[in-house]
Amino acid sequence: MSESFLTLGSFTLTPVLDGFFRLDGGAMFGVVPRMLWERVAPPDDRNRIRLAMRAWLVRGQGRTILIDAGAGGKLEAKARAIYGFEGVPSLDASLAAAGLGVDDIDLVVASHLHFDHAGGFTTRDTDGMVRPRFPNARYCVRRGEWDDALHPHERNRASYLAENYVPLRDAGVLDLTGEDGEVAPGVRVRRTGGHTQHHQIIEIHDGGQTAVFAADLLPTAGHVPLPYIMAYDLYPMDTLAFKRGFLPEAVERDYLILFEHDPEVAAGRIREENGKLRVERAL
Ligand SMILES: [Zn+2]
Repeated sequence: MSESFLTLGSFTLTPVLDGFFRLDGGAMFGVVPRMLWERVAPPDDRNRIRLAMRAWLVRGQGRTILIDAGAGGKLEAKARAIYGFEGVPSLDASLAAAGLGVDDIDLVVASHLHFDHAGGFTTRDTDGMVRPRFPNARYCVRRGEWDDALHPHERNRASYLAENYVPLRDAGVLDLTGEDGEVAPGVRVRRTGGHTQHHQIIEIHDGGQTAVFAADLLPTAGHVPLPYIMAYDLYPMDTLAFKRGFLPEAVERDYLILFEHDPEVAAGRIREENGKLRVERAL
């Protein structure tokens, strides 16, 4: 199921859901007490909150770009139960609703390589082989994130699953980028750090307007206030520092924020009223 689309200059921006999952509500809001976050994100009887895995399609300037790709279909039943996966709608179904198939994607851009973002980059064949999911696509990953994903440690090992990205290198479809800048006409990557050291957001610019795929910098609209930072972040003070600069910029320049994990709000603009920030929903 597609949730319709937005336009930004000559670009069409379409949310493509890869279903929903659940993460611990306390971990999603870090130091914020449950009595505060449970108002915006009511937990289930196992203290988990429901989150979307919402990739975004960027079409325009002759390209069809997919930003992140959800968890995909390779996780085992035990992991799917722990994370409360609802496989519906699948990314394939969401792409079909947007009139596309896996062959139509030219470029896949990764915010980072955690499984809920990069699991859908690859698929397992009936013979058990894992291969790139989008046969005609190049995959763009930040070099520092790639290096970290190949050398996981005790605190991030559960999130980095090699089968989601090593097959891209083996198939010769991986492009590593080192700096902030354009990865396609009008599409820029910008490092935030924080969640992972090389986590990046993706900006789409055209006609004087900007949309920002916020990934895990602002996973939901509820994460806009400065202290609402995930306990999953490896470098939460870096997240805080980036938010402190980014939020006023987003208000001033009227950025359209694309939310990856918000279960309801796919996109919105950040408004300031009486010194408080809120999200005005756009989709
Ligand atoms: Zn995430």
